[in-house]
Amino acid sequence: MRLAIDAVAAKVETAAGPFSGIAPADLAPAVAGVDLDTPLPDTAAALAELESVYLRDAVYFHHPKYAAHLNCPVVIPALVGEAILSAVNSSMDTWDQSAGATLIEQRLIRWTADRLGLGPQADGVFTSGGSASNQQALLIARNRAVAALRTDPGHKGRRLPELLGGLRIFASEASHFSIRKSASMLGLGYDAVIPVPCDANRRMDMQALEAAMSASAARGERAMAVVATAGTTDFGSIDPLLQTARLAEEHGAWLHVDAAYGGGLITSRRHRHLLDGIGAADSVTVDYHKTFFQPVSSSALLVREAAMLGHVTYYADYLNPESAARDAIPNQVDKSIQTTRRFDALKLWLTLRIMGADGVGALLDAAIDLAAATGELVEADPDFDTAAPVQLSTLVFRYRPAGPDGRKVDEETSDALNLHIRRALSASGKALVAGTTVAGRHFLKFTLLNADTTLEDMRQILALIRRAGADYLAGAAA
Ligand SMILES: *Cc1c(COP(=O)(O)O)cnc(C)c1O
Repeated sequence: MRLAIDAVAAKVETAAGPFSGIAPADLAPAVAGVDLDTPLPDTAAALAELESVYLRDAVYFHHPKYAAHLNCPVVIPALVGEAILSAVNSSMDTWDQSAGATLIEQRLIRWTADRLGLGPQADGVFTSGGSASNQQALLIARNRAVAALRTDPGHKGRRLPELLGGLRIFASEASHFSIRKSASMLGLGYDAVIPVPCDANRRMDMQALEAAMSASAARGERAMAVVATAGTTDFGSIDPLLQTARLAEEHGAWLHVDAAYGGGLITSRRHRHLLDGIGAADSVTVDYHKTFFQPVSSSALLVREAAMLGHVTYYADYLNPESAARDAIPNQVDKSIQTTRRFDALKLWLTLRIMGADGVGALLDAAIDLAAATGELVEADPDFDTAAPVQLSTLVFRYRPAGPDGRKVDEETSDALNLHIRRALSASGKALVAGTTVAGRHFLKFTLLNADTTLEDMRQILALIRRAGADYLAGAAA
């Protein structure tokens, strides 16, 4: 363990860039060449080998020039937790495999629910990630809708597939793809999700939601759930939470708030108000492994009514018999779609006990401030176009400088230019930025979650973008 700590600490301290720029084909032979049937003499030798098959070319999220996806540098108290939870190896299904750990997870669920304002009946469970949390929320919503349909005389005797056919989920066109994937896994199909248009700031348009829900009801469909996103993956936009809650209630739909990204705002003194209204949700997804600076994996699903978790309860005689529930022995497996499960809560526990919630919030605030300052830089520069104002900690923009004739290059040229820039930066390893499309056009994206990144770092990344763009245009002209 000590050798490993030294190796990784040296790596993190000395990383010259966020990435080596290596291509998959150049790394594959080293991995393929390892003889897995012949062990090395000792740990030191294995760590030396690991350098060449992994550590040398890994992508380092703590590096200030990493500005691509929603990955965070991790806080050290959480790493301490990671080592301990793996060493003890508690499994969060039943008390007899997780004594103490179950109580710690429950305290952190309570803490999160209180900060979200979900009320005294709230409960929840840790999951492996936002996609899993979203899936469980929609599973609960589906089972609740089916239970309601079964009490409806008009649906008496109908089989499950027939009942599922009419269920619909409403989510903005900027919502996360795991909503559609969940619908597919829940037997509803991708088309059960009705995409709702967004306003200019990429928030779900409330008039469009109202119209979509009314039209769906008129077709005889049933609104199973409305998903509001608190922090869209591309734009950081937060849907109007209270208005969405009102519309969901009018239609008897479950309101799920996907706060996988924005959830960390509950620790921010300065930006917590952005989540106002989230307490009206029936369920909320929070990813600790994004804006709480925790190592992967760490996420939770919270519900306003603890009893709703009963939609995933299954009693197994060997594990969690009903008699245990009667004896009030606490367990988390009754609330989870997993069985054996990591004690990820310990990482957040030690983070709160060592840094405090304010310490986490200050890191997030720094990222939000940096994104705002970067947004001002980019907006003031005529060579860049932005897709939406900066919200939370992302910026979606594209490089579109003037061509030789003094007019901005055309949209197609800008598409090619921005695709090239992203690839060129990655191949150089000097900086990593993400890409996305907006209305069919190719854009670049900064996702900022690193409190150590400075505005000067961002200026340097923008300079690298310009240089890669200029090289491309010079090459295209030649
Ligand atoms: C990241 C993200 C997810 C998925 O979370 P994972 O932890 O990657 O599974 C879901 N919704 C939103 C809005 C996200 O940003």
